[in-house]
Amino acid sequence: MSETAIRQSIIDHCCAMNASGLNQGTSGNISVRQGGRMLITPSGIPYDKTTPDMIASLSLDSDGAYEGPKKPSVEWRFHLDIMKSRPDVGAVVHTHSMYATTLAIARKPIPACHYMIAMFGGDDVRVADYARYGTPELSRNVLAAMEGRSACLLANHGMIATGPTLEKAMAAAVELETISRQYFNSLLIGGPVLLDQEEIAGVIKGFASYGRQDDEKAA
Ligand code: 13P
Ligand code: ZN
Repeated sequence: MSETAIRQSIIDHCCAMNASGLNQGTSGNISVRQGGRMLITPSGIPYDKTTPDMIASLSLDSDGAYEGPKKPSVEWRFHLDIMKSRPDVGAVVHTHSMYATTLAIARKPIPACHYMIAMFGGDDVRVADYARYGTPELSRNVLAAMEGRSACLLANHGMIATGPTLEKAMAAAVELETISRQYFNSLLIGGPVLLDQEEIAGVIKGFASYGRQDDEKAA
């Protein structure tokens, strides 16, 4: 994919994220790894007014220096720190989606209430401690909450989902919002019955081949 196509794809995913109700207004931001650099949405610009040239480009070694006509998202630091510390991450999606953010406001980590929790690497999704948006402290808190996980909630703020590609990071954001909603609803009717660690470990194993149509037919 050309860099211009990647830039357009970031904008398309942002518009889809808002149209689907997963995010609203200029909240949220998306980044994609491109070689030794990171492409990220500009700060505070409505997605339907964003053009490919406005996507900011930062070196992975950047301390805020960027290329582009618009300032990068105020959250460039946690996007960059995730990409630097996690070579497997190709894209980061941050949203203020309703149910994930509601749990984050109540500071409730998501437990193993559904087997899909395994999609995020373990038996829970943690809440990163609160720090003001855009700060190095928030980035540190995010890295701690994402230890061994591909996603986290952000206290009194929102959520982060990652993936090897933008499509997979966006699908992870959709799943995280879905399990947040399911967990929230279960709390309203007496609370969830949780799956144990052994079961989640088995599901993680199973996910390695889930959806593959090229392996041998099961007997
Ligand atoms: P930006 O518009 O700078 O990306 O900020 C939105 C946001 O969600 C901050 O946390
Ligand atoms: Zn935010």
